[in-house]
Order: sequence, then structure tokens, then C-alpha cells
Amino acid sequence: MPKAIALLSGGLDSQLAICLVKEQGVEIEAVNFQTMFNCCKDDARQVAYNLGVGFTLIRADESYLERVRNPKFGYGRGINPCVDCRSYMFERARAVMEHAGAAFMITGEVVGQRPMSQKMEDFRLIEKDAGLEGLILRPLSAKLLPVTIPEKEGVIDRARLFDIQGRSRARLLELARHYGIENPPNASSGCALTQPQFADKVRDLFEHDPGHDIWKFELLKTGRHFRLSPETKIILGRNENQNAHLEELRFQGLPLLRPHNFAGPAAIFLGGANPEMQAQGASIILRYAQKPLPEICELEFVRGAETAIVTASLPAAESFIEGVRIA
Ligand code: SF4
Repeated sequence: MPKAIALLSGGLDSQLAICLVKEQGVEIEAVNFQTMFNCCKDDARQVAYNLGVGFTLIRADESYLERVRNPKFGYGRGINPCVDCRSYMFERARAVMEHAGAAFMITGEVVGQRPMSQKMEDFRLIEKDAGLEGLILRPLSAKLLPVTIPEKEGVIDRARLFDIQGRSRARLLELARHYGIENPPNASSGCALTQPQFADKVRDLFEHDPGHDIWKFELLKTGRHFRLSPETKIILGRNENQNAHLEELRFQGLPLLRPHNFAGPAAIFLGGANPEMQAQGASIILRYAQKPLPEICELEFVRGAETAIVTASLPAAESFIEGVRIA
């Protein structure tokens, strides 16, 4: 039985691509790709199980960050280097393909569905860049695209593929009904890089922290970020879950500042926390704390096994907040 690798986001399009190719007698191994910037909206592993195909998870590594930092093909509206990102995914998936003895790859991409990375010229660029020319089959739009190697070799019957293009989901939903896919998920990458505000946090980190520590990029999804100096950044939780997450980071040695005699967000420091920065951090916490505040606000400054009390009475002024806020 011929074998193919399918890029599976967990969304409807990739599920449909798998259904279309699987019914032509091809064994499928689904590959799900996770970066430090996309949230796992869909449980791709469960989707693969439901479709009756194998599953491999690929996590982006440090070399992915270099693609985000210096894309060959530019950014979208945020700091999303979609063409480079897709090329990186295909390169990584190619290694799985070779290891699994698969002959080609399939995706749920639809011509013209996304402004960046799903135009015909993007498809060509990505295939060439990833060393996969003629080996990527896009069953939903195949009839609009050049004939691929598995079609030429008769492994895939092109007549049973589709010519869907654009943003309308009508034909996709019709296919979902045909294949019994219930509650089809909305089309969304869940990728934070597309959000302009999030892009500011990524740019700040590239500028001030040239190392590619993956955990620091993952931390960008949590909280409000403020840059107090070129070396020091403070992150405040936006809710109880985020406060708890930040509290855990103190066990990794990061200094923590948290309210003691009032209710408000916790904050961690990255890059140092001298007394001046502790005072600035306290005033920022007061700005986002529940009101009314006590006359003298006490905060606990925790570093390693040591805890000290820091006091503050005035929330930071808006002009100060505006000057230090990253996003
Ligand atoms: S939206 Fe994000 S995950 Fe999707 S291709 Fe673009 S950069 Fe990659």
C-alpha cells in the first residue's frame, strides 16, 4: 500500500485532505506541528485517532526562531513569516516522510484561502525551498495546481480531487457532511505571531535577548510585559491562572514580586531586580491591583529562599506605563 505524510493542524481542511487521499487506498501518517507561538486549539492527536491514521508530533526548535527573526520571504500583518514557517514545517515533515518510507506529502491547503502562504506562487516557493518539488499534493485544490508526482505515477486519481479556492467554506462544509465530520472546527491557525500586539513582544525579545531560549518565547503568551531597562523585563499576570504560572517560575530562580496586604497581580523579573526596579515593579502592580488600595501597600519580594517586604503607596502614572509597556 502506498504511504503518505499528512500535515494535520486538526482543523477541517487537513481532515478533509486526509479523508480524500485515504479513500484512494493510501496509508497516512499524520504530522502535527507545534511552535512556541500557536495555541493547541484542536487536539490533533484525537483527530488523527478518529480518522484512523498514525500520528507524529513535531515541536519547533531553536532554528525555527531564526526563521522568525530573519525570514527570507517577509512577514504578514504581524511578525508571522508564513512562507518561511511553512517551508520549515515541510522540511521537518520531509524527515518523517523519509524515515517512514512515505512517497509524498499531503496538506489541506486551499488556493487563495490565506493572504500569505496559500497563493499559487507561495506553494511553488515553499516546495522548492523545502526540497519537495512535485511531492506535495493538495487534494482540495489539486485540479487548479500542476500535476504532482503521485498523480503522474497513478498512485492518486486526479479526477477524484477538487478545485476549491478562496475563503468560502461552503464546499468544505459540504464535504465535511459527506465524511460525517461533526462540528467542523473554524479555520484558524491559532498563531500568536499574526497579532500585531504580540509581534511587539517578539521584536522586543529579539532586540534585548539575542539568545534563542525557547521558554522565553513561550512566556510571551503569558501576561503584560514591561521593559524597565535594556536588561530587565517584568511580566504581570492578567488573571489567577497566569499569576499561578508566574509564581511557579520563581522555582526556576526568577525573582517574584506579589501583593501582601492587597489583591493584585503577581510579577516576575527577567534579567535582574535591583531596588529601583523592585520599586518600579511595585508601582506597576499597584496600577493593575484591585481598588481601593491600603494607604501603604506591602508586597513580598521573593528571590530563591529569601523573602523581603517592599512598600509602595502610589500606582505608576499612565505616562510611565506608556513608556515601559511592551504589550
Ligand atoms: S500563521 Fe503562524 S503557524 Fe501559520 S504559517 Fe503563519 S507563522 Fe506559521
